Amino acid sequence: MGAAVHALTQATAYRAIQARSAPKPRRNTERMLEKTRAVLEELTGVNPTSGAIWTSLRRRKMATLTQKFCAYAWRSLHEGYKLGKYWDNIDALREDRMPCLECEAPVESMDHILRECRVSGQELVWNLAKEIWSETGHEWPYITVETVLGVGLLTVKDENGKVLRGRTRLLQILISECAHLIWCLRCEWRIGRGGDLTQLHTEPEIRNRLRAAVSKRLRIDWALANKQAYGRKALNARVVEATWFKVAAGRESIRRDLVAPGVLVGTASSRRPRGRNR
Ligand SMILES: [Zn+2]
Repeated sequence: MGAAVHALTQATAYRAIQARSAPKPRRNTERMLEKTRAVLEELTGVNPTSGAIWTSLRRRKMATLTQKFCAYAWRSLHEGYKLGKYWDNIDALREDRMPCLECEAPVESMDHILRECRVSGQELVWNLAKEIWSETGHEWPYITVETVLGVGLLTVKDENGKVLRGRTRLLQILISECAHLIWCLRCEWRIGRGGDLTQLHTEPEIRNRLRAAVSKRLRIDWALANKQAYGRKALNARVVEATWFKVAAGRESIRRDLVAPGVLVGTASSRRPRGRNR
């Protein structure tokens, strides 16, 4: 602003543009982060910085959270999905938000989809997760959208307050996989199946989807723990062991299943993870 064109260098212009376009924190994002931090404090006793929440979605420590989940969580933190409230910003005069007609909920928010909705399959998915988790003997946390978005910072501790790495990892895997599955089921039904109530995902369908998602993670874990293949980048086999302890088969039985596919952990065609999402 105010620079004469003939005196303007590229560097000056660049600096000026940089200074002007510094992004302001978005109000919705700030509010979502604030709520997520409060819930994390309640669950872990530590109030993390907003930066720590973003980092937990970017670094993907020990391959616990998938890239797909992180993209979903990142966008949800920005309230970037076109759900209920989105329409408020589009047209301030518009009275009717996008409701969830099936539940007679006034707004179809991400929290509604994950926690209350009767057509997203959430209830069954969370019940199955709790069933798996019950093998660990630890308490299952109360799940809201904030628990899901801050999942990378959740911890499980023993009675002396020591963080249990394996159990922490399993909890993060279960919550993130379930939340992402619920979101996928909701989108498939609403968009792919036209929101037709006669075409809701059936109970066996949902069970199979969750089982497939969890066994995929189990197989990938053991594949990534392969020192010959990954050297120093391999996952710590002891942490992988501790993650699935009591909950699922160990490395040896997975090897056997891969030889005789389809027994416990899925079919031969899906046994080898491909691409960036493995
Ligand atoms: Zn609903």
